Amino acid sequence: MTNAETPKGFGLTIDFGGAAPAADPSVATSATSAAPTEAKLLILGSGPAGLTAAIYAARAGLAPVVIGGYAPGGQLMLTSEVENFPGFPDGIDGPELMAKMRAQAERFGSIMVDQDVDRVDLSAQPLRVWSAGREFRAEAIIVATGASALWLGLESETRLRGRGVSACATCDGFFFKGQEVVVVGGGDTALEEALFLTRFATKVHLVHRRDSFRASKIMISRVEAHPSIELHMNREVVEVLGEKSTEAVMLRDTTVGATSTPERLAAGGLFVAIGYTPNTAMLGGALPVDAAGYLQLESETSASQIDGVFIAGDVHDHRYRQAVTAAGDGCRAALDAERWLTERDASRS
Ligand code: NAP
Repeated sequence: MTNAETPKGFGLTIDFGGAAPAADPSVATSATSAAPTEAKLLILGSGPAGLTAAIYAARAGLAPVVIGGYAPGGQLMLTSEVENFPGFPDGIDGPELMAKMRAQAERFGSIMVDQDVDRVDLSAQPLRVWSAGREFRAEAIIVATGASALWLGLESETRLRGRGVSACATCDGFFFKGQEVVVVGGGDTALEEALFLTRFATKVHLVHRRDSFRASKIMISRVEAHPSIELHMNREVVEVLGEKSTEAVMLRDTTVGATSTPERLAAGGLFVAIGYTPNTAMLGGALPVDAAGYLQLESETSASQIDGVFIAGDVHDHRYRQAVTAAGDGCRAALDAERWLTERDASRS
């Protein structure tokens, strides 16, 4: 299956030009299968951090191999309009921005591998990475694997995922034309999703567990002013109802001391937008993480505790988490990796 044939309820359609990514894990594109397995620099991840690192490293002549995942492009693939990425005064859709970054990285000789990283061995040189049964070796690695959406953790949420329950309004919003939907969360993602869903839904119920949002002021003003968005503050979803598809959610009052029983709210869709968790499982504990599981930097540079391994983007940054800061991080990591490789070459000659 190509990425243009994404099934209902999952994934996005994006034009990556000639090098279309393989949405089906069992199918690698010709570019992917032909990619060299020996490289100076491997980049793990293909969000703004990974692709910016690729642009810089490729322009430095390093021909980086980017192992970017079966669903390349990172979180911006799940975002509608991006209004704060410099250079786009009218805004740009997340997937379109990522397609442009990828094209820019490929233009200078980056090689894309649209497969997930399975595991790594960073204990000795060359550094090694396994992906879809192949072993890749490199002198330096940039880890830019980003973060993934969190779920509420309800059994009914899991059961109805893809059947009305989603973490991506941009991917799935279209399917809720003419219906009422629920969005959970109080950050920028939730408010952005709620606004986006007003394009399709007759009403968007925004459910937040506290009495104030943590989103930016401009997003709060837009949501509060929108006639199709109803706010449900101090409420949490405790169950999703429906047999074959989502029919309603049960909302519990989170106010301290509240004793009322949960109330039913009819809705054909539930969009969960409650934040992210860093993607570090494939590292198998090779690099140290903080209390929240994010990778830790060794110093004020992008260097990790392991020589030749550099870190960029949301996989270590839970403070800023912006596309532009991730891109800046990718630039730093590429410059640090390039410098490290140059010094290494000089010391060996
Ligand atoms: P976030 O800022 O961490 O907000 C997560 C929200 O989900 C919070 O309101 C939190 O509630 C709520 N939440 C967490 N766990 C929950 C649970 N189990 N049940 C119910 N609610 C739960 O995450 P985000 O909105 O995804 O944003 C992440 C970062 O990306 C932020 O820095 C944001 O500014 C940025 N971002 C920027 C843009 C943009 O600029 N266009 C768009 C999207 C995101 P509490 O408030 O009670 O903790």
